[in-house]
Amino acid sequence: MKKKVFIAGSGISGLATAAYLARQGFTVEIFEKNEAPGGRLRQFQAEGFTFNMGPSWYWFPEVIQEFFEYFGKEVSDLFTLERLDPLFRLDFGTQLPLSIPADRKQLVSFFESVETGSGAKLDRYLNKAAQKYHQLHQEVDYYSTSNSLLHFLYQKLFNAHARYVHSLFRDPRLVTLLEFPLPYMGLVPIRHPMVAYALNYSLYEQGLYYPKGGMHQLIEALVQLLDKLDVPIHVSSPVESFDVIDDKVSGIITHGKSLHADYFIAATDYRHAEHLLPKEFRNYPEERWGAPSKAPVALIFYLGLNKKLPQLLPHTVHLEFPAHTSPSKKTSSATASFISCPSKLDASLAPQGMESLIIRINIPQGMEDTGRMREHYFEKALRMLETVCDEKITSHVVYKKTYASSDFEHDYNTHMGSPFGWSGTLAMLNERNVKMQNQQLPNLFYAEYPSFLGTGVPSALLSAKTIANKVAQEHYKYYS
Ligand SMILES: Cc1cc2nc3c(=O)[nH]c(=O)nc-3n(C[C@H](O)[C@H](O)[C@H](O)COP(=O)(O)OP(=O)(O)OC[C@H]3O[C@@H](n4cnc5c(N)ncnc54)[C@H](O)[C@@H]3O)c2cc1C
Repeated sequence: MKKKVFIAGSGISGLATAAYLARQGFTVEIFEKNEAPGGRLRQFQAEGFTFNMGPSWYWFPEVIQEFFEYFGKEVSDLFTLERLDPLFRLDFGTQLPLSIPADRKQLVSFFESVETGSGAKLDRYLNKAAQKYHQLHQEVDYYSTSNSLLHFLYQKLFNAHARYVHSLFRDPRLVTLLEFPLPYMGLVPIRHPMVAYALNYSLYEQGLYYPKGGMHQLIEALVQLLDKLDVPIHVSSPVESFDVIDDKVSGIITHGKSLHADYFIAATDYRHAEHLLPKEFRNYPEERWGAPSKAPVALIFYLGLNKKLPQLLPHTVHLEFPAHTSPSKKTSSATASFISCPSKLDASLAPQGMESLIIRINIPQGMEDTGRMREHYFEKALRMLETVCDEKITSHVVYKKTYASSDFEHDYNTHMGSPFGWSGTLAMLNERNVKMQNQQLPNLFYAEYPSFLGTGVPSALLSAKTIANKVAQEHYKYYS
């Protein structure tokens, strides 16, 4: 008889893990607390505007392509992709902004125009980054293979990365350009040395992509795939706890009822999953999740504007540095804000002549989420937008929704309202061997298991494969 797997959570991690497991011959069912699947990749409509709640674009396109190819699908059959060009505008407040071209040749010329001699150096840097990325891509399960020697080497390599970038470029804006992606994924540079190369390789070599209709298209494609694989998604069905009998999880409780299966995947925030278990069975003691870390949380404004913004690019990154700090010296101390205006690429997202835009400000973790705090940052966000667009905007805001840490906690049960998952739990990220399986309950697995890309959408797809293989391995250990 086919073995049954229950998955808690229908974000991209839960859906992708379900697809791999169903393909491996398991009977799979998904339980989702919210009314619709998708987790942080959900979408909502209001007053004629459509907003994708999480990311607006994706990177590492070949990871997405490889995932769907495994299930016999071409990405081009599922949705229409548009490559962002320019990639983004990088705004430094006091210094001249940079508009970053997507094409490598143009990027090289652009570097050369900012600093003589830097074009050829960028070429060298990107060749090195490509080599390191492909090396890592082959070693998919980066975390479980790391040991102290590798860790030491990775640390060395990261330092080499920072030194390397500083040795190549003098213009602080070029240095910042190559340093900023890592801290803004909420990752600890010293622990994730190779990710710096991987992120830059993807960003500057492979590019950023917009799926027409928005990032929710990924969820729609997965839901269709799961339908074909006979995997039901039970929405409005929170997993209230895991039942434990004889050192195994025997079932889940949902709506007060106990349902039984053979294997269980928690595709929710890791700490939340631990809290669904009696204390003595948790992988990590509570203090490991503890103190607020330096990883930022997101304050998001979903805005509908009753006019077009001709000066705005689809994607703007704004960095604000503490006073008296040179950008190149303290990239990670800058406050980052992101303005996404996907209606520039997709007319279906806003009524004619209007724009749908999302402003995300990274704010320090632990800041109290109050109406006053949200309004303070909203004023800042509008001033920033007005500066970038060089026009008055306040009176044109016809729709506004604010989303902050308490919404993340409420909607997704994320620890400290983290937008990226692991980034909220740096104490855990400092773990070299993140545990993907419960140490005492061998039939319980955690899908929030970081791949070599750290956290995020492509990482979730890579981790899903690792977890599904691990469940199959566990199964055949007992049944072969
Ligand atoms: C504003 C923003 C911008 C981002 N930008 C990027 C980016 O540029 N690039 C990138 O790669 N990533 C980005 N991310 C991160 C990316 O969206 C997430 O890493 C990814 O969507 C996480 O997917 P997940 O399935 O692991 O978690 P989630 O999407 O949170 O899914 C978990 C699911 O579990 C459900 N759940 C929770 N508790 C229970 C329970 N007890 N029972 C049943 N169900 C439960 C939740 O409702 C949710 O549906 C961004 C995120 C945000 C919010």
